[in-house]
Amino acid sequence: MASKTALVTGGIGGIGSATCQQLAKDGMQVYALHLPAEAAQAEQWCEQIRQQGLVVNIVAADVSSDASCVTMAADLREQGVSPDVLVNCAGITRDKTLKNLPPELWEAVINTNLSSIYHVTRQFSATMANRGWGRIISISSVNGQRGMFGQTNYCAAKAGIHGFTMALAQELAAKGVTVNSISPGYIDTAMTQAIPEVIRNQITASIPIGRMGKPQDIASTISFLCSEGASYITGANIPVNGGYFMSF
Ligand code: NDP
Repeated sequence: MASKTALVTGGIGGIGSATCQQLAKDGMQVYALHLPAEAAQAEQWCEQIRQQGLVVNIVAADVSSDASCVTMAADLREQGVSPDVLVNCAGITRDKTLKNLPPELWEAVINTNLSSIYHVTRQFSATMANRGWGRIISISSVNGQRGMFGQTNYCAAKAGIHGFTMALAQELAAKGVTVNSISPGYIDTAMTQAIPEVIRNQITASIPIGRMGKPQDIASTISFLCSEGASYITGANIPVNGGYFMSF
């Protein structure tokens, strides 16, 4: 895969960071997308990765803003960078029951977790199709499949990713570009470390495999979906949840 280039949004977060490192190990030229305000943290992160003998580049954008993504894509094009692989991984939670959920927290979660997929993907999908090869992988959530108390915004956004994925997969199937989503269960990152410990323990007890997932569990699935071995998988949602939610 030496000639492939990957762009990973949320690239310096928990799952994104493991994904960037895995794809770099797979031989790809990797760009980790971070929020513009996180530039210093992203530089530091890059240096830590470099010390492990891996090279990952960084690029800034706010994925909740279409204009920011247009600028980011233009900057990459100017550098001659055109991703063959796009991993839409940026996401946030802003949990509140519906009666307490103000419009700004609804919009923040929908824009960051769902509209972002449109903002970023539309910058690169046509070029992938013209080249006849591409991989678009969006990180959804088990809570988009089953719902979760206090997460109408997040569950709506994550379920929406599946509709986007199935529709775009049909548009690009004949062009060598596969489009899939992954629905992680509970993965041990900053996002879940914010959950109170007593609830985290209850969650872990309800996972048949007996542990929270690791970012690498998702990175390995992404690596597989990028491989030639996965070229017949498109429009699919892959659950990676330790048996926490089983369906067909
Ligand atoms: P993290 O919070 O560690 O990573 C998310 C990353 O996205 C952060 O680096 C964050 O930056 C970045 N980000 C947030 N908003 C924007 C934005 N507007 N533009 C650009 N980047 C942004 O979370 P995880 O690694 O756990 O989550 C990754 C994905 O996996 C998310 O989509 C999440 O919903 C999904 N997921 C996670 C699960 C889990 O259990 N951890 C379970 C199921 C799904 P900053 O830190 O500055 O906000």
